[in-house]
Amino acid sequence: MQMNYRVVVIIILLLVTLSISVSVINYMVMRQSTEESLVESSLPLTVDNIYTEIQKHIIEPNLVSSMMAHDTFVKDWLLHDEEDTLKIAKYLEAVKNKYGMFTTFLVSEKSLNYYTSKGFIEKIDKDNPSNAWYFTFRDQQDSHEINLDYNPLLANSMIMFINHKILDAEYHVIGATGIGLKISYINDMLKRFRQQYHFKVLFLNEAGDVVLYERGITPMTHLQDIPELNALKDKIISKNGQILDYNIDGEAYLLNTKYIPELDLYLLVEAKVANFMTEVRHTFYLNLLVSLLATSLITVMIIMTIRGYQKKLEHFASFDSLTELPNRRAFNEQLNRHFLLQKRTPGPFSLLFFDIDNFKLINDSLGHQVGDQALRRIAEIIRENIRQTDLMARWGGEEFIIAFINSSVDTARIIAEKLRTCIEEDKALHAIAQGTVSASFGLSEYREDDKVDMLIKRTDDALYEAKATGKNKVVIC
Ligand code: GH3
Ligand code: MG
Ligand code: MG
Repeated sequence: MQMNYRVVVIIILLLVTLSISVSVINYMVMRQSTEESLVESSLPLTVDNIYTEIQKHIIEPNLVSSMMAHDTFVKDWLLHDEEDTLKIAKYLEAVKNKYGMFTTFLVSEKSLNYYTSKGFIEKIDKDNPSNAWYFTFRDQQDSHEINLDYNPLLANSMIMFINHKILDAEYHVIGATGIGLKISYINDMLKRFRQQYHFKVLFLNEAGDVVLYERGITPMTHLQDIPELNALKDKIISKNGQILDYNIDGEAYLLNTKYIPELDLYLLVEAKVANFMTEVRHTFYLNLLVSLLATSLITVMIIMTIRGYQKKLEHFASFDSLTELPNRRAFNEQLNRHFLLQKRTPGPFSLLFFDIDNFKLINDSLGHQVGDQALRRIAEIIRENIRQTDLMARWGGEEFIIAFINSSVDTARIIAEKLRTCIEEDKALHAIAQGTVSASFGLSEYREDDKVDMLIKRTDDALYEAKATGKNKVVIC
């Protein structure tokens, strides 16, 4: 029995180990492939998408702005002392309307006048922080720049200014012009990439300053703010786009970079790897749960099957399959136990052996199967006539044994006699054997200091005597 449980435990452990291993391997493979698909498709595709979107939305305004800066009318107007403000206002209005810009503007280096489609707006001043952009831009080398403005007075969305220098024939700066464009679409796009795909997108300039980002989201204004990223500065601020990986606070990140020449900006798409593993992890837990449930089910089935077999084995080991009476082994166990009890609480008890008379004749004349039927009927007769507390068994062949607990030989004799007459007069048995069936009985009472063998021997002797002296009788010894 113990052996079976050990085998069951081993099988269960093997199954559990197997299901856990399969789930873990599956999880690792899925992690690997998720990371690979991030590197090989999701990140590059996102970068391309954003780039295409930017191109679609910014390239044209940039060209318009450049076209304005190169427009001979604008140059002439500036070089001719900015005569007739209405003319430039009309020009700015026309460009603004034609290309659907939020605003168009012009600044004269000579007069420091700021014009829009509404005409002259103000004289710009170095000391006015909102005018500072012009002086910084004028003094820098680049011929154009992109500025972002969140001024809520301008519009309730982010405005991107694309400024271009206006140069005279000697390449001296004579002013700046450009357009202002609502770029809420960029914010929406970056938001969409973050919310739907868990990508953080931002744009850096050559110096590593964050120039474009989703409002309220970026935690940094410069690459230097994040040392782990700053360490990769040379790779990030590079004209060759690449995929980088790094860890921040123990979290793994993947970063796809791309230089956008039209804007002279670096596009960064960052993915926190853990965000992409949530589904993989959920699948892992689900796999594990299902396989453990299956294992539990199999375990229950194994235990139930083994229990069933064990019960059957135990039954076969203790019961006679023909008569369903206990067999000799089970009887001996019970008798030995009773002998031990007898020592503690003494009381009368008697043992009865009985053997069917001339049973061989039944077999020989009517066949073995009829003999079997007769044996089964005799077992029923025994069950019908003895108490539940008494012990009984098919001792072997056509021989039966009964231990009458708490019964003196006198009481036992009455029952033995009753049994003898029952067998002799039983109609069913008569029908089976096609004639009277009888049995001979040997009876003996337990005596003090009796050993099991001694009592059995005495009872057997009594039976022998019953056989020897004419059969179909009860002999006491
Ligand atoms: P006696 O009156 O002296 O007991 O004669 P008997 O013929 O009953 O005794 P014997 O020992 O010569 O024969 C017993 C027979 O019982 C022989 C054996 O084949 C038969 N027998 C033993 N076990 C079974 C059984 O399970 N089924 C059947 N049908 N016959 C059995
Ligand atoms: Mg016999
Ligand atoms: Mg016999």
